[in-house]
Amino acid sequence: MTKEIRNHPSWIEINLNQFKKNISIIKNYLGKTLFCLPIKANAYGHGLRAIGKASEDAGVDYLAVAHLQEAIKLRESNVNIPILVLGAIHEDQISDLIFYNLEFTLSSKFKADLVSKHCNKIKKNAIVHLEIDSGMQRTGVRPDTFPSFFDYVNRLEYLNVRGVYSHLVNSEIFADQTTTEQIDCFKSLTEECLNGHLGVLRHIANSGSIQNFPNSFFDMARPSLITFGYSRNKELKALSEIAPCFSLKSKISYFKVVNKNQGISYGHSYVTDKQTRIVTVPVGYGDGYRRCLSNKGFVLIRGKRFPVVGTICMDQLMVDIGDEEAYVGDEVVLIGKQDNEEIPVEEIATLCNTNIHEVLCFFNGRLPRVYT
Ligand SMILES: *Cc1c(COP(=O)(O)O)cnc(C)c1O
Repeated sequence: MTKEIRNHPSWIEINLNQFKKNISIIKNYLGKTLFCLPIKANAYGHGLRAIGKASEDAGVDYLAVAHLQEAIKLRESNVNIPILVLGAIHEDQISDLIFYNLEFTLSSKFKADLVSKHCNKIKKNAIVHLEIDSGMQRTGVRPDTFPSFFDYVNRLEYLNVRGVYSHLVNSEIFADQTTTEQIDCFKSLTEECLNGHLGVLRHIANSGSIQNFPNSFFDMARPSLITFGYSRNKELKALSEIAPCFSLKSKISYFKVVNKNQGISYGHSYVTDKQTRIVTVPVGYGDGYRRCLSNKGFVLIRGKRFPVVGTICMDQLMVDIGDEEAYVGDEVVLIGKQDNEEIPVEEIATLCNTNIHEVLCFFNGRLPRVYT
């Protein structure tokens, strides 16, 4: 047993072999299109440093993160492949972005001027990607101003434009009209502007679009959720071996027999209708197992499904195992597989009324990540 599990009763287990297998399947599927893996938000909860290193080892071409701090952590973990910072940068981050050899996004002349000025001072180049807003209304320059912006940045000293990219709004919907328009807009704009600028990478694809829009690949793609094992389009043969690599596990910390008509946990939101066996599991909403799963979620013990009963506490929750047998120390699976049963992340997402991305991000740093 690793030190992490000895010191904390619950853990997230990441199957790195499956993760690397997913990478290799997607690499093949993308063909000559470069593979950029976004690993923002602690690598979708999987652990930034270990996932960064494993991705590099498995042959990913590029990593992407949202913020400078995430990129610095990767460089400090000896990740040496290109890293693209997607989020808007601030003036006081420019020196570190260049010091750590990071590529970053520009979506305004104002920031481009600041970067060029700084680079002029230190006599070093910055490698940048320009973002086009093709429909998110988040960051990026408007399509009609992109041609002049592209020209402007190209004329600035010490700025090396390595990529032009955009982000899709609805790519998980097959043949979606907005997505089709976004891809068409991106295609025609980049064809018009990049003519003669060899080596500028065009990228717009994410997990949804590589499954639903084969015309979204361009020079580089940024599929993340699917690399962590969550594919929606089960018909795509080439991706059928993709599988999740994330499990949430714990061990029973307490066992008791509870009489009929006893309320369980805060507020007594669950009352026993017969004498039953209740086990306590040391996971709570303080770890990211959401309180809204109270009286809704299920866990696996000894290969069987049992309901979470009563209000989930910050550090613990209770499970009704009826007449079944279980002992203190038995493994509890809250997400993942046990024997022939499974609690998929999708089930938690549905119960919490959200998407898989958000469920994976719920789980914070209190839970140790164990890599197998
Ligand atoms: C997070 C992110 C992605 C990856 O999205 P998935 O749906 O997980 O594939 C791609 N591009 C940008 C700009 C992102 O922020």
